[in-house]
Amino acid sequence: MNGCLFCRIAAGEIPSTKVYEDEHVLAFRDIAPQAPVHVLVIPKKHVSGWYDAQGEDDASLARLMRAAAKVAQMEGIVQSGFRVVSNCGPDAQQTVPHLHLHVLGGRAMAGEMA
Ligand code: AMP
Repeated sequence: MNGCLFCRIAAGEIPSTKVYEDEHVLAFRDIAPQAPVHVLVIPKKHVSGWYDAQGEDDASLARLMRAAAKVAQMEGIVQSGFRVVSNCGPDAQQTVPHLHLHVLGGRAMAGEMA
């Protein structure tokens, strides 16, 4: 989508530190990491958020989750554990309106969800 930050990253117009990529999904390091491992996993196709996903996006969403697991494996945090977070809308403080998963690991997380 025109002007979307993550669409521009997926298109290579804005640089990112790529961790994983396939035909449908891109994973790259968060610019302001909240944990030793903090990777964002996005569908290359623009989807604003979970509320915006359509039936035709089902395969893409499944790939997104599988890619998050693959990233955790690649980053060596499967045994120690990791958290997958997806913020949706203002109360959740979603700042980039392009669906994404945060893969966080490498430190013990606090008990709360965020
Ligand atoms: P959210 O607040 O859940 O929408 O997450 C958006 C995330 O994108 C934040 O954790 C930001 O630090 C991250 N971010 C913003 N711009 C960039 C960028 N150019 N490259 C990598 N991560 C970014």
